[in-house]
Amino acid sequence: MNPYSLNICVVGTGYVGLTTGVCLATIGHKVTCIDVDNNKINMLLHGKSPIYEPGIEDLLKLASDHLEFTASYSNCNNADVIILAVGTPSTATGTADLSYLEAAAVEVAKYLSASKLQVIVNKSTVPIGTAKRVRLIIDMELSRADKTATYAVASNPEFLREGVAVHDTLYPDRIVIGSDSMDAINVLRTMYAPILEQTFTVPQECPRPEGFSLPGIITTDTTSAEMIKYAANAFLATKISFINEIGGLCEKVGANVTEVARGIGQDKRIGSRFLQAGVGWGGSCFAKDTAALISTGKEYMYELPIISATVKLNKRQRQRIIEKLQETLKVVRGRTIGLLGLAFKPDTDDLRDAPALDIVRDLLEMGARVKAYDPIAMDNCRSRYPDLNIEYFPNALAAVEGCDAVILVTEWDEFRHLALTNMAEKMCNEKVLVDGRNLYKPGEARQAGLTYIGFGR
Ligand code: NAD
Repeated sequence: MNPYSLNICVVGTGYVGLTTGVCLATIGHKVTCIDVDNNKINMLLHGKSPIYEPGIEDLLKLASDHLEFTASYSNCNNADVIILAVGTPSTATGTADLSYLEAAAVEVAKYLSASKLQVIVNKSTVPIGTAKRVRLIIDMELSRADKTATYAVASNPEFLREGVAVHDTLYPDRIVIGSDSMDAINVLRTMYAPILEQTFTVPQECPRPEGFSLPGIITTDTTSAEMIKYAANAFLATKISFINEIGGLCEKVGANVTEVARGIGQDKRIGSRFLQAGVGWGGSCFAKDTAALISTGKEYMYELPIISATVKLNKRQRQRIIEKLQETLKVVRGRTIGLLGLAFKPDTDDLRDAPALDIVRDLLEMGARVKAYDPIAMDNCRSRYPDLNIEYFPNALAAVEGCDAVILVTEWDEFRHLALTNMAEKMCNEKVLVDGRNLYKPGEARQAGLTYIGFGR
């Protein structure tokens, strides 16, 4: 049992909120997870996770004594910490839509009390100034209700990756806390103490990685904390776009981008991660966060040419898939194209800004037939994009049967082990394999009878 056990409310039970809530309960806090979506709450009350995230259902069971799920904000009344983890999607102009966060702040304000310090935490990714905005909204609500409360606002950006979200929460590289209140920072230090000191009972389902060193804590002001999150995502997106730009030139000059990445990645100043050339980045965060950063720049009439180029280049990578098909098949209309993978990355069912969606739209527009298989994301795709005329198949080989070309979009582990000869046997005509993640060895693919096309090699 955690000796520093706190009462915590987490608002929003999506990828971030649910993982945070479940992990904080696992390390010994008493957690209430709140969501306006009754379907999600009902599923959670039955021990089912509304999102696909490895390990989450095991921890739901493990921490069930410390966890409550509800659509009501009433437990905020007694909470030491209230974590806002609602969505902040892009608006049409690229700014972050703060309407969910602001609505949550209004609700939280109704339940704040004056009996003890309560810390309201922005964990959602939010533009600079949002901590101040949340404070303003709460103050206005309190004054409207003629109430007082003892509260502070903190910014605590989240860096977890979908697919390994539980691992990233229990074993983070660092924790960033921004607040103007030292007392608030101390409460959050206490909340994170079992993670910072790694004193929690390690769940069997998510063992501590060997050689893991204690995470650092960065305490700062709210504006810097908000900027840290955007800067981190913009940097990672830029790293991927950079290697894709180099990959394009490698194709022209006959170099191999995998070798180049290996060569530069061993330089400790560069590092080898996020240097895989391919179809580029996707997901709920990079596109919206780079757009939000660019739009903040515009507000201040400050151009961000590097980040703008990063976004442009990423769009080009998706088009490169189609260009590569056209270069090989010549005519795409009337062809049957298979897609391996729909999710924006492996081990998630998340389709937000998934490259597969753009590729499918282009193929359908060009008059191709699209067959697809994804180990997890097909149901999500069916229900969210009923307009997309995709034919879904129960396994990879069924999806590639009769295809002129197959595009590997998501590097799910099971695709690594695909028998390429079987795949070639099932396909027809040019038997093109566009390897959007450079997952296969070109020589082996060609030997199997496929026309192999990778990225940057
Ligand atoms: P999500 O869409 O999966 O979940 C958001 C949840 O908030 C939904 O369940 C929704 O029903 C709920 N919600 C909306 N309004 C609410 C309200 N007023 N009260 C209670 N619940 C409400 O989003 P997510 O992927 O978890 O992202 C949340 C935030 O975290 C975003 O700002 C995102 O940028 C950031 N973030 C996401 C990731 C990631 O990998 N997904 C990583 C780091 C940071």
